[in-house]
Amino acid sequence: MNPHPLSHSDLERVSAIIDASPALVLTGAGVSAATGIPTYRDQAGNWLRSDPITHQEFIRDPRQRQRYWGRSLLGWPAVRDARPAAAHRILAQLENLGVITHIVTQNVDRLHQRAGSAKVTDLHGRLDRIFCLNCKESSGRDQIQSELERLNPSINRTTVSARPDGDADLADSMVDGITVPQCKSCGGTLMPDVVFFGGSIPSERVLEGQAALERAQSLLVVGSSLQVYSGYRFCKWARQTNKPIFLINPGVTRADDIAHKWTVEADTGLSALLNHSIKRHGHKETASHD
Ligand SMILES: [Zn+2]
Repeated sequence: MNPHPLSHSDLERVSAIIDASPALVLTGAGVSAATGIPTYRDQAGNWLRSDPITHQEFIRDPRQRQRYWGRSLLGWPAVRDARPAAAHRILAQLENLGVITHIVTQNVDRLHQRAGSAKVTDLHGRLDRIFCLNCKESSGRDQIQSELERLNPSINRTTVSARPDGDADLADSMVDGITVPQCKSCGGTLMPDVVFFGGSIPSERVLEGQAALERAQSLLVVGSSLQVYSGYRFCKWARQTNKPIFLINPGVTRADDIAHKWTVEADTGLSALLNHSIKRHGHKETASHD
């Protein structure tokens, strides 16, 4: 099950996480990397792309909405069809074992829920829903996909690379030709139910995550470089309340100086944590549940 025996120091890291359980888990794009949805940042924590559409641009600029929906038309199927990776499945098992209490995710792909995790806060929203900025009516993302395809028959899906926010690359020359669907009820502007750069997270989500951290004994960050403040804030709260912070991440993070860091890929670190949690709890039968 775990092909690489752990070194003594890795074993100590795993033991420390279990000793400080149950943990609130904060996840980022790194846990979804193995699904083919690429990560926002490289291992040095730099932006991989320099041109994310901001909240204000989306709200104010019709051309930016054309750009967004054109990219989204091409990029959505990859996110819709992605399947949970080992990291998602292991986190669901760790919840069943009582090693973790709750997941706060910066991802918008809903893969934790699809893997079976019950307690999840989608901090940055969910890409599978859209809502109207005018009448607030919400609906499923798939409905607008068929509408986008019907309105834009000339946009095809040849050789595009999906982005974690469901965008894909689209030539500037094609943007002008994009027809953007409107709200069926009121004709208003539709927006994906996700927090764009420069947008704000609804306060109830933040409070839900904060309350979950209060109930936990520790914070475990998996697959996030914590460059976005909404995630890093959980590290600050954990520190203020003297809860240990553990990081499972292959690259540099913003919390390296205040956390116990394990420089390893999410799948590797979490499978070791699962194996040792099962041994510790004596629930070997749980290992066969997948
Ligand atoms: Zn509307």
